[in-house]
Formats: sequence, C-alpha cells, structure tokens
Amino acid sequence: MKFTDFNLKESIQQAVEEAGFTEPSPVQKEAIPLVLDGHDIIAQAQTGTGKTAAFGLPIMSMMKADGSVEGLVIVPTRELAMQVSDELYRFGQKSGLKTATVYGGTAYGKQIDRINQASIVVATPGRLQDLLQSGKIKINPQFVVLDEADEMLDMGFLDEIKNIFKFLPKERQTLMFSATMPKAIRKLAEEILNNPKTVSITKSETTNTKINQQYYVVQEHERDDALVRLIDFKNPTKCIIFCRMKKEVDRLVAHLTAQGFKVSGLHGDMEQKQREVTIRAFKQGGIDIFVATDVAARGLDVNDVTHVFNYHIPFDSESYVHRIGRTGRGGKSGEAITLVSPNELRTIKRIEKDVGTQMSTEIIPTRIEVQDAKANELIAKIADTRVTESAINLVKTLQHDLDIVTIAHLLASMIQEENEVKGKDKIGLDHAEIAKALERSKDERSSKNRGRGRSPRRHNDRDRNDRGGDRRSKTRQHSGGGRDSRNAGRGSNRG
Ligand code: ADP
Ligand code: MG
Repeated sequence: MKFTDFNLKESIQQAVEEAGFTEPSPVQKEAIPLVLDGHDIIAQAQTGTGKTAAFGLPIMSMMKADGSVEGLVIVPTRELAMQVSDELYRFGQKSGLKTATVYGGTAYGKQIDRINQASIVVATPGRLQDLLQSGKIKINPQFVVLDEADEMLDMGFLDEIKNIFKFLPKERQTLMFSATMPKAIRKLAEEILNNPKTVSITKSETTNTKINQQYYVVQEHERDDALVRLIDFKNPTKCIIFCRMKKEVDRLVAHLTAQGFKVSGLHGDMEQKQREVTIRAFKQGGIDIFVATDVAARGLDVNDVTHVFNYHIPFDSESYVHRIGRTGRGGKSGEAITLVSPNELRTIKRIEKDVGTQMSTEIIPTRIEVQDAKANELIAKIADTRVTESAINLVKTLQHDLDIVTIAHLLASMIQEENEVKGKDKIGLDHAEIAKALERSKDERSSKNRGRGRSPRRHNDRDRNDRGGDRRSKTRQHSGGGRDSRNAGRGSNRG
C-alpha cells in the first residue's frame, strides 16, 4: 500500500513525498481512509507509530484554507504540542495551512492573533479551556483531534476536555487517539464521538533470546556518523540496516559506498530478478551490507547475518521483532543495534516493554577507542601470520637504506593508514546525558502536575492554569507562507 492509494489532495501528497514517507505505517493505513470517509474514529496506537500523519494528512486534505480555524488538535504537553505542530506545519505548508501552537504561560494578545490567522490550532487543554471560557477566542473547527487521550486523563485534564467540547460545534468530525483503552477513555469516547470506527494496532510476539539487543542515543544529525562508527567498531561479517524510507536507503547506500563498504540497497520495487542477484551476492559475500526498508526485507532469509542496525526505530513492536529476527538465525547469536534520538526514548521504552526484553543502553565508542580496538586486532593478526620468502626479500632490500626499526614503523604506518577511523571523536549521548534525556521524557508526562506546586489540592483548583508549570512556555506560530524562516528552513531540510 502506498500513500497515493489514499487520494489525498495534490498539495498534501506532495508534502508526503517531500517528507520522504513511502509506506504508510499500520495506524495510517487503517485510519486515513476512515477519516477521509468522514468517520469519527477511536484509535488505539502507541507512541512512535506515526499518529500525527494518521490524523494530520486526511484532515488537512479536506481543509479549505479559508482563513478560519478548521482543525483543533488537543495534546497533553507543550513538548508534544511543539512536535505535532512541527509535523503538521511540514504537511500543510504547500496547502497554505497555518498552524498555531498554544499553551499556557504567555501573554494572550499575540496568541489570540495567531489563532485567528491559523487553520489548525494545536493546544494543551488548560490554556485552550481558558481562552474559550473567557470568550477570548471563538473557533468553529470541523475537525477535532484528541491525541494521547489516556495521558491527558492521567494528568487530570478530564474536566478541561469536557468543558472545551461545550464550546465546539456539534457538527464536527472527532478523532481520538490513545495508547490504552481504560474505562474512563471509553466513557469519554461515548460522550464526544459519534458512531466511531475503531482502529487498533496490536502488539507483537516476543523475541529470540540469542539476540543481544542494544540501543544508542544520538542526536538526529548524528545518525550517519554513528552508523559508520558502529560498523567500524562491530566489524560485522554481514549486516542489514533498516530504514523507514526508500529515500534514506538510497542516501545511505551512497554514503556507505563512499566510505569503502560493500553495500547494496534492497528496494520494495526492485525487479524480482535483480532482487535475486543482489541477495545471492549478499549470501556469497560480494556484498557485506544491505540497506533495506521493512517491506523490502520481508521474507529475506540469510543465515549468517551477524548484525541488524535500526537506523530509525520502527513504528511498531511487531516490525522491531521482525527486523531483529533477520539475525540470530539457525541457532547462531546476533546483535541488534538501534539508534534513537532523545525524542524517541519513550518509543524505545515502549517497545522494550512490548517485546519483554531489556535492551542495554550503550555509548558509541570514540575514534580513539575504535582505533585502539583495531590495533589490538592487528597485533593478534601479526602474531598469527607466517613469514613468507617475498617478505624476507623485501626487508633485505629495504635494509640497504634503512634501519630495521624505521622499516617496521613505515610498514605499520602503511597498514594503519588503511585502518584509519574517520569522523569526530565523540558521537551520540554519554550515560549522564542519556539519564538526563530519560528524566526529561518522564518529566514531560508529569509536567502538568509538577508545575502545579506541591499541594495535591491545588491540582484541582479552578485557577490552576495561571500558576507555575507552564510559565516557561510560549506561543509559537508557523506561517504557511514560510515567513517564519527558522521553521521554513527546518521543513525543507528534513527528509
Ligand atoms: P506518534 O504520534 O505515534 O508518537 P509520530 O507521528 O510523532 O508518532 O511519528 C513518529 C516519527 O515517524 C516522526 O518522525 C514522523 O515524521 C515519522 N513518520 C510518520 N509516518 C511515517 C511514514 N509513513 N514513513 C516514514 N516516517 C514516518
Ligand atoms: Mg504523537
């Protein structure tokens, strides 16, 4: 299934292509057609499964861009509000759909102006209720999305949400997303949804215990460097690198080829014959590295794959299990290595839980460390090598002009030059930085409560929106015409 099968509006389809998405994720496959058909939906899907596009693409495809607020997305935290609105901005830019991001703590004036210019408002419940209740804004969104609904209830936002809906039009399409479906969620769904269709993305089986699973935390821009460093360090006999996008596959193949690796891409749209030739080369060792998307690797059965790399974390636990199962076959052991950004820590923790294994958090070795490891390998290899006659003759010739120590140094330098490890010394986050990032990702969930001060009673105060917590936050707006240069730049750089 492709994105073109959905019949999205031209400008939205273009944005999808620019984002580099080729295959819709499971929740997107199910939700997008239902939303386009005008249904309310209640979708159970975990974090990191591509929910933003699952609701964003179809509703934006149906929007008129007439200057009114057509869509409202309610999310639990300001961090999520920013993430969601960044993504929606990318999708809507070509369609002239502006996005306003709204959360507590800023002056009202500017924020209200921005809402009044936007087609889509992404908001946290507190400030939104505040704006609606005080009559500072009047909006008539035809599309309303509740993202991560269970988390909003966990954070105590139920009253706010119910209140918000009093100010929304009765004629609307409502989409609700939640990782879990406790009673409270189902009850809320009954109140706000109209004849909803259910979308449920189920969990996976567990994994082979012979596979050593590790993850490394890197910044988004460090993925390529991290990958090369880890291949250098792990020295896999055969490995498969998984990407989410075909575009990424192509780029990585070029990048790794330039680094001197024997690498090939495995495409879903490769001709069968070409596919067979490539797979044979992989089996026989003419190619050491496959770069593949999930679809392309389906059914791939190669026995001695020593390492699987997840260049990007997969959407669901099932794909994760499927991917890492390409190694550790036939009773052999294997290593599965996943690169995650700090933003994806929640997703990896969720997959860990689903799959029922504890992965180890590792630090990417520095250039010097890899260099040392390679030197040690070399020393062992030298000790193992038999002296040949041609070598004796070569040394004899060299000894006419040079002393024996100089000769040894020169020969060693020659070998070392080939072994040289490239790239910057430190790549990715160290243990302290990972701990901090993990803390932050937990904080996001509890930021509301934390901000409300220590008294548990204040948690239920009427005026709590004006206190603590959200003070650091601000309102941001993405302009559809690209006037916001920072975001316009980021949009076009992503791929
Ligand atoms: P969720 O809301 O379920 O946690 P997101 O919508 O934030 O997940 O998506 C997670 C990441 O996956 C984002 O970086 C997004 O750009 C990317 N993504 C979403 N859909 C696709 C797709 N079909 N192909 C490739 N990447 C995608
Ligand atoms: Mg999301």
